[in-house]
Amino acid sequence: MNLYEHIKKEDKEVFDSIEGEQKRQKEGLELIPSENYTSAAVMEAMGSILTNKYSEGYAKKRYYGGQEFIDQIELLAIERAKKLFGVPHANVQPYSGSPANLAVYLATCNPGDTVMGLNLPDGGHLTHGWKVSATAMFYKSVPYHVSEDGRVDIDEIWQLAKEHKPKLIWTGATAYPFVYEYEKFAEIADAVGAFLAADIAHVAGLVVAGAHPSPVAHAHIVSTTTHKTLRGPRGGMIMATAKGLAKDAELGQKIDKAVFPGLQGGPHDHQTAAIAIALKEAATPEFAAYGKQIVANAKALAETLKKNGLKLVANGTENHLLLVDLVPVFGPGGGIFASEALEAAHMTVNKNTIPKDPSSPFYPSGIRLGTPALTTRGMKESDMKKVGEWIARGVHAVASYKLPEAKEARGPYIEKFKADLAANAEIKTIREEVRAFSKTFPLPEEE
Ligand SMILES: *Cc1c(COP(=O)(O)O)cnc(C)c1O
Repeated sequence: MNLYEHIKKEDKEVFDSIEGEQKRQKEGLELIPSENYTSAAVMEAMGSILTNKYSEGYAKKRYYGGQEFIDQIELLAIERAKKLFGVPHANVQPYSGSPANLAVYLATCNPGDTVMGLNLPDGGHLTHGWKVSATAMFYKSVPYHVSEDGRVDIDEIWQLAKEHKPKLIWTGATAYPFVYEYEKFAEIADAVGAFLAADIAHVAGLVVAGAHPSPVAHAHIVSTTTHKTLRGPRGGMIMATAKGLAKDAELGQKIDKAVFPGLQGGPHDHQTAAIAIALKEAATPEFAAYGKQIVANAKALAETLKKNGLKLVANGTENHLLLVDLVPVFGPGGGIFASEALEAAHMTVNKNTIPKDPSSPFYPSGIRLGTPALTTRGMKESDMKKVGEWIARGVHAVASYKLPEAKEARGPYIEKFKADLAANAEIKTIREEVRAFSKTFPLPEEE
């Protein structure tokens, strides 16, 4: 099937790149835990005529005419989100997860107010107050950290919250292999009168599948992306919980006003339709089984990696992702060797900091991997055993490299490493095995 015949006719350059990316997605193993493959129905909605429409405002209160069908779509997405997560209020207009989070600040804080979130090198997200993010420029950010064991340091959060009296506390992360302890965060937020926002961008699909606890009883606000484990289009949502409305009866309206007109203009109606479809899919028994399989696969992958000599942060995982501590293999800063070697072997992962990383966020000492995308392609625990063995072989194949301590020496050393990689026989062998294996698992659009 040629999905892109018009692009092919009109714009060969873009077509070639899309085709190259399609082949890459098909002939490799996608292990970045924030990525996934959407259904063909979600993809169709993203490419639909809905992209032609402008609809600033909210259903029945728009600034433009011609909204009969757009209103139906947005109201459907809202109703589905409310039902699926069990919340009284949902906004489905955020363009993505980061704008959704900025809207949460706008709804709950004044500029300069104090906020708390997990430090980025400890696994937190940029938008939880990391220093280069707008969220730390417009608000006073007090980051909290993880302890030696990799778990968030609840004692430190208590102490910081009492000292700084934040207006808003974030729970949730991007690189955290544990279940989130929402009750403990709720106790702290309630004690200091802060809003608690649970950012479930990574685990939303697990939450609806019953494979991860829900924050809804504990947090005032829940924000999420729609394109990670939830398996929808790129997008974001913000929900107010019953607890949130009990704290502030206007919270729903404040969130809506923050998204539009506070931050955004017209919503992306094609994206809203795709979100509605994804939410319908996420409410099925098949999706619940999918979410549970993601976690089972992550645990199986963790076991194989350990058996093959790799060290994991937390010695395993409680969710969909794993952090490999590569200090025993490469010394500090070796994430780049593993991620480049695996990419050359058609396995996509990302280099990532580990708790108390002895190196820096730019040259971190670990890699992060996850199972949501592979699970969508139909892989099970027995497949994870093969994938884990390829990963371990790929890492061990380049284990003799060490990041130079002198900063100027690093660039040339890595260039040399990449050149060596192209000639590495073991990497080439793994690549051929991975490619043949990957091709036997169709992408959703091909089914
Ligand atoms: C991915 C992510 C986001 C941001 O999503 P974008 O769509 O990339 O803007 C926000 N918070 C967390 C915890 C995430 O993992």
